[in-house]
Amino acid sequence: GRKVNDGTLAHENSIQLQTRARQRVPGGVHSNVRLSGPQPYVERGKGAWLYDVDGRNYVDYLLGQGPNFLGHAPDAVLDVVSAADRRGLVYGGQHALEIEAAEAVCAALEWPDMVRFGVTGTEIVQAALRLARAVTGREKVIRFEGHYHGWLDNVLVAEHDGAWGVASEGQLPHHLDDFVVLPWNDAEALAEALRRHGPEIAAVIMEPVMINAGVIQPLDGYLERVRELCTAHGAMLIFDEVISGFRIGLQGAVGRYGVVPDLATYGKALGAGGTVAALVGRRDVMELFGHGMVNHSGTFNGAVPAMAAVTASLAVLREDPPYPGVERHGTALMAGIRRLAAAHRIPLRVEGLPAAFHVSFGDVEVTDYRSLQLLDLDRYARFSEVLVRHGIWVAPRGIWYVSACHGDDELDAALARFSKALVAWS
Ligand code: PLP
Repeated sequence: GRKVNDGTLAHENSIQLQTRARQRVPGGVHSNVRLSGPQPYVERGKGAWLYDVDGRNYVDYLLGQGPNFLGHAPDAVLDVVSAADRRGLVYGGQHALEIEAAEAVCAALEWPDMVRFGVTGTEIVQAALRLARAVTGREKVIRFEGHYHGWLDNVLVAEHDGAWGVASEGQLPHHLDDFVVLPWNDAEALAEALRRHGPEIAAVIMEPVMINAGVIQPLDGYLERVRELCTAHGAMLIFDEVISGFRIGLQGAVGRYGVVPDLATYGKALGAGGTVAALVGRRDVMELFGHGMVNHSGTFNGAVPAMAAVTASLAVLREDPPYPGVERHGTALMAGIRRLAAAHRIPLRVEGLPAAFHVSFGDVEVTDYRSLQLLDLDRYARFSEVLVRHGIWVAPRGIWYVSACHGDDELDAALARFSKALVAWS
């Protein structure tokens, strides 16, 4: 096939597959997130690269929406998974790999005593919410503008003229009744809400670094204050580390910012592409599942491929930590993009952490969801299509993820392609 990434569209095979897919698959996709985003059909991925069915290649900064922290098809993980899989995929019974994986998670994170594994971030968040309600005997939950906690009725929200409500047709609006939505990075707003609703609040759930909207970091002292407030009001603090976990450091946001929640959820990078999520916490809380008082179930929880992926992924993260390399690449890439944008006099904003950062058009100080809306997010969404055509695999939302496999060659390729894309754009 042709190996061109010159901004032209060599996409005959992709179009053919897309047309075929749309006959049997609504929108041609199995996750509505992918209705927008890179459209070429992928033939395979290896390391930091994706290859499409029309012979084009891409430096991948989407990484499957985060999971491929060790790159695509990492041998160290695939070898362990494929060996384990030959002994069967799912047993409806217990097996030693489940223990190994749980021990590895606790050893890596250090603060939790126990783990329950699930399959997706969406459902493991539900387990966390149910557990928090059971422990506290309360029903209401505080959550934040711009944070994503899955696609189910009680957590999926959209803004309608400043108010937060359902984000989908068919969603039950009253499932949102027990949630209070607050601006994030605003300790006073939380203090006020807890003063008002304190005795009813079971939990405060947040992305400790708001990667889903702008990759915004917590302001100095914010998480500490949140921790104090939750403790003072008897609310469980839940960190949703589905993106940040194992990505922004082995101990995720807890390690990076030094604040320990009561419960935390993980997914994505945890399994290096394996389908797995985890809820972790202290023994006294987590044992409510063990005593059977709180139900958390799932046919595929603890399945062999997932447990093998976790043990293999954590072995790599602990024995050969990719974090310094990821930070180096991300830092250089962010600086390179800023430099190119300045040279082309295009007002690109590049902010966040090296392991996950956000690119958009505009020049404003962004600390929360509301200030993020002042950026020209639609313009970037259109630019992201130009980037894809020039061989950089990114989504319209502007979040870029870096993997352990992004090195100097990828940096050179990405910046050369980005530069061409800017020329085509301006
Ligand atoms: N929580 C956060 C912070 C997420 O970013 C996501 C997914 O992007 C989820 C939960 C839901 O995870 P999943 O898509 O695996 O259901």
